Amino acid sequence: MSETVNIEKIFGSKVFTPEKMKERLPGNVYEEIIRVNNEGGELSFESADIIANAMKEWAIENGATHYTHWFQPLTGITAEKHDSFLAHPKDDGTTIFKFSAKELIKGEPDASSFPSGGLRSTFEARGYTVWDTTSPAFIKESGAGAVLCIPTAFCSYTGEALDKKTPLLRSLEAISEQALRIVRLFGNSDAKKVQVSVGAEQEYFLIDRDRYLQRDDLIFTGRTLFGAPAPKGQEMDDHYFGVIRERVGEFMKELNVELWKLGVTAKTQHNEVAPAQHELAPIYEEANTATDHNQIVMETMKRVAFKHGMTCLLHEKPFAGINGSGKHNNWSLVTDNGVNLLDPGKTPNDNIQFLLVIACIIKAVDTHADLLRQSASVVGNDLRLGAQEAPPAIMSVFLGEQLDDVVKQLIETGVASRSIDGGTLQTGVSTLIDIEKDGTDRNRTSPFAFTGNKFEFRSVGSSDSIASPNTILNAIVAEAFCEAADRLEKAPNFDDEVHDLIKEFLEKHHRVLFGGDGYSEEWVKEAERRGLPNLKTMVDAVDTLTTEKAVKLFEKFGIFTKAELESREEILYESYSKTINIEALTMIDMVSRKYLPAIIRYSKQIADTVNAIESAGADAPVQMELLQNVQEGLLRIKNALEDLKNIEGKASLIDDPKQKALFYKDNVVKAMAELRKPVDELELICDRSIWPVPTYGDLLFEV
Ligand code: ADP
Ligand code: MG
Repeated sequence: MSETVNIEKIFGSKVFTPEKMKERLPGNVYEEIIRVNNEGGELSFESADIIANAMKEWAIENGATHYTHWFQPLTGITAEKHDSFLAHPKDDGTTIFKFSAKELIKGEPDASSFPSGGLRSTFEARGYTVWDTTSPAFIKESGAGAVLCIPTAFCSYTGEALDKKTPLLRSLEAISEQALRIVRLFGNSDAKKVQVSVGAEQEYFLIDRDRYLQRDDLIFTGRTLFGAPAPKGQEMDDHYFGVIRERVGEFMKELNVELWKLGVTAKTQHNEVAPAQHELAPIYEEANTATDHNQIVMETMKRVAFKHGMTCLLHEKPFAGINGSGKHNNWSLVTDNGVNLLDPGKTPNDNIQFLLVIACIIKAVDTHADLLRQSASVVGNDLRLGAQEAPPAIMSVFLGEQLDDVVKQLIETGVASRSIDGGTLQTGVSTLIDIEKDGTDRNRTSPFAFTGNKFEFRSVGSSDSIASPNTILNAIVAEAFCEAADRLEKAPNFDDEVHDLIKEFLEKHHRVLFGGDGYSEEWVKEAERRGLPNLKTMVDAVDTLTTEKAVKLFEKFGIFTKAELESREEILYESYSKTINIEALTMIDMVSRKYLPAIIRYSKQIADTVNAIESAGADAPVQMELLQNVQEGLLRIKNALEDLKNIEGKASLIDDPKQKALFYKDNVVKAMAELRKPVDELELICDRSIWPVPTYGDLLFEV
């Protein structure tokens, strides 16, 4: 692994890039596909056929034997079904490779087993995958060989979205259309579309694979369901940005190479706050590709970790008591002629277009805080949001000192006449160059923070697809843009109207602005006073999808139909119940077949010792006390185990998806915590050598 890496040569080498298309396609076909991707519209069947053939040749030259439509069903991960390029053998026994427009454009996976939330009954199982020309095809190399992956959207026979990509693509069209209306009003007549740029910072844990394999909870649920804290946690802050350990370094090196080949712009890597926790950040790119690439990042992390004898944990909270993992979704809007709508310039107070955009975003987040929170919901994230390490479940916007000041001026006087300047950083050391400071410091506790020329949505869970958060962001901001454009396009005096509109939006919605400590109890109370929603769990957030205001929003911009929203609700409830059910069953199994037998054996060892000492004529008070403690602990474990089994049994009898999820949240989760407590306590008094699974210390500090 010590050979030098030539990034330029390997970057995108496994991607069917526009550059490769240019080389391999007739000029008119190349121009057609580029035009369709940039401006929308449909590709002709003839051109698709030519592209399919070029793609096949390129893939075969690169060792691919199979192709797959690669899609993102509502399981949150990607799905694929491999078909080889083989065609029917000829009479002479030889064969040819075949891949035509038909196979490229449309696939029909036997899709009855993917969640559809009642959109499709099993006897009407047809689902189609449809080629997404805007995200490049790529070759994935794994144990299964090299496979040409074609990014696709996944829909039912009647055209309802069964995946995460379709609504994302719809939302990207909606925001582009509405944002274009805004930039037109400010005289930008060249821009043909407004793109969403996204950079998703990905946090993850790496642990030793052999130890991972000794823990059923990690295998079945991706997180530890038991485990007393190690003597050392993250309190020394010595892991954060620390020197990367050799084994992890080798992993990162290979991960980068694999990602670069796939055109993923892996850029930054570092150790995170918790021991064994790390982060990877790519360079931002167009949102649809960024979403596909984030899936590739997660998948590649798992695969490369395996090769290095480690397991990559993407769960939001693999270990209690230390930080969990998230995904910071950096989001901005850029015209195709290169103007970032979120770039304030040196003096944001003069930048009216920027102020209007910011006012619209503030309005959007305040109006749809519930939806935004929902978009960052996965079961694992319930253990993280609001746990003093990740932003709270309350959505608020952080603008920073400079913009807060501009907003204040606008609300108070209707005009903003000045901007606070960052100034220069004085270190007090004459040999250090004075550097220009940013206009604002950071706030790590805010869920939605302005960071210079983009917003950073920090609530997203580490295992989650970024499709939903971006779909929701695009939708809610499109709505605010639309309202603004409707008014401004009709205004007799544009300058007056834009001025009034910014002031009005800010006055109405500034309650969502917050720059203080988002982890504090005071903020929870303050947010309640301000009337901001605090949806603590995933289950509480589900029905935000079908409120009247949500349905109106999504239908207006053609992002979801009501039926699609209802189906998603059902899937979310079901996925919650199923996940907690697996966790509860894993706990029951581990306690019954691992912890209890080990502790019982241990108590016999102590009892034997007591007997031996006492029959030798001495007292054994220390051993007796330990024995009693162990016995008491055993009893508590047994009672808590019985309780969990009972409650779990009741949960399984409930049919209604919402009622079932609520029951899991209110009862099963509690019973699980009650069972964990005595097991973790006994871990701290039992002989280490009898403990049946690796401890937190083993998992976190000995990678
Ligand atoms: P920060 O230090 O604020 O976290 P970085 O420059 O380290 O900012 O970027 C963090 C992530 O944000 C990276 O993935 C980066 O590519 C992405 N990013 C930077 N600028 C933008 C932008 N304009 N739009 C979207 N993402 C961006
Ligand atoms: Mg960041």
